[in-house]
Amino acid sequence: MTTLFVSDLHLDALEPAAGAQFIDFLRERAATADALYILGDLFESWIGDDEQDAYAGSICQALHQLSARGVPCYVMHGNRDFLLQRGFEQRSGARLLCDPVLVDLYGERALLTHGDALCTGDRSYQMLRGVVRRPSWQRRFLGLPLSVRRALAQQARAGSRRHTQRADADIMDVEPAAVAAAMRACGVRLLIHGHTHRPAVHDFELDGMPARRIVLGAWHDQGSCLAWQRDAFRLEAWPRAPAGNASAATRPLS
Ligand code: MN
Repeated sequence: MTTLFVSDLHLDALEPAAGAQFIDFLRERAATADALYILGDLFESWIGDDEQDAYAGSICQALHQLSARGVPCYVMHGNRDFLLQRGFEQRSGARLLCDPVLVDLYGERALLTHGDALCTGDRSYQMLRGVVRRPSWQRRFLGLPLSVRRALAQQARAGSRRHTQRADADIMDVEPAAVAAAMRACGVRLLIHGHTHRPAVHDFELDGMPARRIVLGAWHDQGSCLAWQRDAFRLEAWPRAPAGNASAATRPLS
């Protein structure tokens, strides 16, 4: 009886080790879970469901195998892959979630969000977010040829790297007032999010009552998940096997 949460995998064909580790996670760990929630930035970039590259296809196929085994898989948009749509759902068997969304975890209500909307100190990012989440902007973007979208996405990623290098570390984190407002609005004491790549369990007081914010870790260098059970939870991280090792173990002795 475990529900698993991951986020910020940033899967990218150019860095295949993370994808391989994630596929292992889906086949082993997630196969016995009650459900898997992916809270945004599954992919480093997603320019439309009509971009059908082999790498994304292999990830979708592994997700599909999981849901075919009876483990429901839910995916929330991140700031990198907010253009995941119906075609992705069909290929992966996963269901897209709204951000934020309320779920019931064995009797405990939890608010799930990617987390970027809570970084309200980063004004320029919030302005950009407001634009690219508009249906009219998305329709125009998705109407462009794939080659143009690829080039624009590359520019956007370079711009985002420059921004995160320059910006103050504080504004790249969630704003406590935004966290409190979101939790208050939904009447919850538990918030689970990713995005900041700062895995931690924050216990604090909200209106005089104990509250908890759990931040999921990114998969850049290791695997990471939150395993939630009825009476316990664990925020876990595990190392990535060095690229040579897996094949060395299966190579016949000579
Ligand atoms: Mn993010």
